[in-house]
Amino acid sequence: MIQTISSIRLNIGENDAILKEKACKIAKISPSKIKYFKIVKKSLDARKKNDIHFVCSVVIGDEIEKEPPIIKEEFNHPKKPTVIIGSGPAGLFSALILARKGFKPIVIERGGDVENRKKSIDDFINTRILDKNSNVQFGEGGAGTFSDGKLNTGVKSPFSTFVLNEFVKHGANEEILYLNKPHVGSDVLPKVVKSIREEIISLGGQYMFDTVFYDLTIKNGAVSEIFLEKDGKKFSLEVENLILAIGHSSRDTYKMLYNRGFSMETKDTAVGFRIEHLQDDINKAQYGNNYDKRLPVADYKLTSNICSRGVFTFCMCPGGFVMPATSEENAVVTNGMSNFLRDGKNANSAVVVQVKKEDYPSGIIEAIDYIENFEKKAFVLANSDYSAPCQLVGDFLKGKISTGFKKVKPTYPLGVKFCDLSKIYPKIYIDCIKKSLIDMGKRLNVFDADDAILTAPCTRTSSPVRIVRGENLSSINIINAYPAGETGYAGGIMSSAIDGIRVANTISEKYLIKSN
Ligand SMILES: Cc1cc2nc3c(=O)[nH]c(=O)nc-3n(C[C@H](O)[C@H](O)[C@H](O)COP(=O)(O)OP(=O)(O)OC[C@H]3O[C@@H](n4cnc5c(N)ncnc54)[C@H](O)[C@@H]3O)c2cc1C
Repeated sequence: MIQTISSIRLNIGENDAILKEKACKIAKISPSKIKYFKIVKKSLDARKKNDIHFVCSVVIGDEIEKEPPIIKEEFNHPKKPTVIIGSGPAGLFSALILARKGFKPIVIERGGDVENRKKSIDDFINTRILDKNSNVQFGEGGAGTFSDGKLNTGVKSPFSTFVLNEFVKHGANEEILYLNKPHVGSDVLPKVVKSIREEIISLGGQYMFDTVFYDLTIKNGAVSEIFLEKDGKKFSLEVENLILAIGHSSRDTYKMLYNRGFSMETKDTAVGFRIEHLQDDINKAQYGNNYDKRLPVADYKLTSNICSRGVFTFCMCPGGFVMPATSEENAVVTNGMSNFLRDGKNANSAVVVQVKKEDYPSGIIEAIDYIENFEKKAFVLANSDYSAPCQLVGDFLKGKISTGFKKVKPTYPLGVKFCDLSKIYPKIYIDCIKKSLIDMGKRLNVFDADDAILTAPCTRTSSPVRIVRGENLSSINIINAYPAGETGYAGGIMSSAIDGIRVANTISEKYLIKSN
């Protein structure tokens, strides 16, 4: 019999073998008879600082759990290809699904493959010369490749388990299948996306790296041809379907699509700073001063609604680094990443304020430029050499330019310059962030500590515009173009991957041979 056993207590320091023993005892099965054992949930209960422990659920049995039978689908494959713009989670998972269904998709990616992309990012840090097409936002694996790889999502989808299983199959640690806050790590993600690419190619799919999609032709309300540029050479491809998995940062592409007639609308977004603390201070705040060093490094998620604009933390990277994440020249953007072990000295997170669509000057292009202007202002404010503007939290709250760091040292690798951060954003954003920092400090006492560091700007939380799509997931006015992921339909790695799967399934459905 196979049974699920929930709420098993596991003390800090107890391993999975002990968990199995405890489960056998509750299930009243002798350990020697166990043929199936799977951890399905493991979450840390830190509500009482003197009794921190894990709570686990497992599936256990004295027989092997049978896999459901695979239903073979057949398709009338079209002659022209389905082309996917972007190899981020949305593009990657739509390509994987289509390739497995025999569609031989073509993936177009403006950045390099993971190895070359890593080189472009290192070159930027070493030379301050940005590759506009291959950077922390653009390149194989998309914006999330050099991230913390957090895989939690608020989206409830039957495809979540599928995505996690594929990550594990392609090299991620198995614990992502059961931890309640799984993360892959910036050091592991590149291997995973490369391995998925290899499977797609082995099934007949194609990848074109360093290739920019810069224009298209629309005939009778459908995309007929797309125009591409690689190494200065221009060429075109006829398409059957076009998946626009372009993420939130490809501003030139959004503008081109808008100018070609795609229906778009503005949406709310959020902007702010990265905030850095010592990881040890976050651990102490969350677990108590004498916390057990075997506990996982602590994280936090804070919101404050005391101001007219909501302020929240986002993309918290325990033991991580602040990264230069611009994809535009003469602009500064920050984001966070951490390796699988999360063993860096600092914790960092975005602390961002809600930007309402009423804030933008009217128009799609204007909304995109509104956000970009913060990045350009930050560039000029901090030396115009890709250093990032920075201020200690205590000084930011007092409105004074900092003169030196205390115990928290910045991790932004291109260097920081002390500035008045209130010069970057409108007063209403700054006032709300100030009030909210103090409010959040009431719940996490070190959060608004004087020596915590703010690095600016954090502007790539989501796109300020959305390509409007209908119920069949295609653009409402261009029938064979499918916006996916962070074009307005997801936020984060998991939800973007899930959206890519939904789009791929919708496309394949059009060609399904229905049996009677
Ligand atoms: C540093 C960093 C850390 C992050 N950490 C996390 C995290 O820990 N957890 C999490 O859930 N999310 C994280 N995110 C956000 C996450 O990466 C995105 O939500 C996710 O990648 C969006 O997936 P996507 O496929 O929609 O778009 P993207 O991943 O942005 O992929 C879009 C791709 O399209 C390509 N492209 C765009 N335009 C063109 C064009 N014209 N021609 C050719 N190619 C084009 C781009 O080069 C890019 O590779 C992080 C982001 C960054 C930048």
